[in-house]
Amino acid sequence: MPVLASIRLRLQMLQPNINTTKFRGEAPTDNPSLALLSFWQSEPIMTDPNCLFCRIIRGEIPSRRVYEDEHVFAFDDINPQAPTHVLVIPKRHFAGLKEADQSEAEVIGRCHLAAAQIARQRKIEQGYRTVLNVGPGAGQSVFHLHVHLLGGRPLSWPPG
Ligand code: AMP
Ligand code: ZN
Repeated sequence: MPVLASIRLRLQMLQPNINTTKFRGEAPTDNPSLALLSFWQSEPIMTDPNCLFCRIIRGEIPSRRVYEDEHVFAFDDINPQAPTHVLVIPKRHFAGLKEADQSEAEVIGRCHLAAAQIARQRKIEQGYRTVLNVGPGAGQSVFHLHVHLLGGRPLSWPPG
C-alpha cells in the first residue's frame, strides 16, 4: 500500500468521520519519501464526507462559484433572498459558530473579508449584511459554518 494511503487509513481509523483527502495537489504516491514530505508539509483540510457544503467544495454537488482561495469558498445561494445572496464558507469543516474554537478564529475572519471583497466587486457597498445563523432556532439548516452575504436591496432592521 502506498505510504500516503497507509497514513490516511490510520487517520481514518482514529477519526472515522473525517476525510483527510486534500482538495487539490494530491501528493505523488509512487515515491514514498516525496509523498511523506508532501503530506507533512501541508496540513490536510478536514472535511466531512456527508456534509452538503463539503461536497460542494469538492465539486460533487454543482454550485455557482463566486470566489475561492486556499481557505475560503463562496457560491450563490440556491434560494436567494436578495439580488446578491452569496454563501461564504471555510474549506475546513466545522458545524457553526457555537462549535468553533480558537483555531477557527482566523478563517471566520477570512470569510467576512471575502464577503466584503465580493460586496465591493458587486458594487453593493451602500448597504449589505453578513449573517451567521447559529442553531436551528435561528434558522441554521446546514451544519457547516457559512456567512450569508445579502445585498442589492433595502435591508430592514430588526431582521425576522
Ligand atoms: P442556513 O439556513 O443559515 O443554514 O443557510 C443554508 C443556506 O444554504 C440556505 O440559504 C439555502 O438556500 C442554502 N443552500 C442549501 N442547499 C444549497 C445548495 N445546494 N447550493 C447553494 N445553496 C444551498
Ligand atoms: Zn462541511
